[in-house]
Amino acid sequence: MIALDDVRKSFGDRTILDGVTLRFEPGTVTAVVGPSGAGKSTLLRCIDFLEHPDSGRITVGDLTVDAATAKRSEILELRRRTAMVFQQFQLFSRKTALENVAEGLRVIRGLDRRTAEQQALDHLDRVGLASHAAHYPAQLSGGQQQRVGIARALAMEPSVLLLDEPTSALDPELVGEVLATIRGIAADGQTMVIVSHEMHFVRQVAQRVLFFDGGDVIEDAPPETFFGPAVGTRTRAFLREYH
Ligand code: ATP
Ligand code: MG
Repeated sequence: MIALDDVRKSFGDRTILDGVTLRFEPGTVTAVVGPSGAGKSTLLRCIDFLEHPDSGRITVGDLTVDAATAKRSEILELRRRTAMVFQQFQLFSRKTALENVAEGLRVIRGLDRRTAEQQALDHLDRVGLASHAAHYPAQLSGGQQQRVGIARALAMEPSVLLLDEPTSALDPELVGEVLATIRGIAADGQTMVIVSHEMHFVRQVAQRVLFFDGGDVIEDAPPETFFGPAVGTRTRAFLREYH
């Protein structure tokens, strides 16, 4: 189980997370939507302490980290249990696809090169890119680069995979392949929290949709409810703008 408990975060005098409390069950896919600047990325980044919350607690499995007393070792363990997929892929440009995926297995998991590369190849296979293992990022399309980014995150076998607008840097014709990859991973039962503005995809892949605005969750509903007539006026106004 992954949980946020009364998580607060401000930048200057702007409150971004105003005491957020959430629970994500294993094997579920949750989408987070909301206007630009609402704090969706900050919410994800507080889960693995890429942003240190001002206060509150993050739980992943049997580990609870309190922002007020967080030890370096606890934060590292929290990061071992989570993995982030970034909008801009953030691959190492001078490493091949295989080396990009193997890197964390060697450095973080401490596997020898041969074992790391064997496992990396399995993860590239999951995203349909085993045949591109020897390619450098510059030799891959944006969609393929993002799939390598997903393979790299999966290789860490995270309790929760965090994806921050994984398709928004892509040309429209490349979005579909990445969404299909994510859908496949969801079908395997990987717990995921996905920030996305692809409402069509959100509707298909998420079991739960959160509308985040003004520092907290405004709407928390399964997609059939979220995209139906019974949602609140703020959510409806947001959806009108984004559809
Ligand atoms: P978008 O949809 O544009 O990605 P978002 O919902 O992800 O937006 P955040 O990136 O979480 O929003 O940012 C929320 C607010 O916090 C914004 O006003 C942003 O400028 C501000 N902010 C984010 N990170 C920092 C930082 N490190 N220092 C100062 N302000 C920040
Ligand atoms: Mg963002």
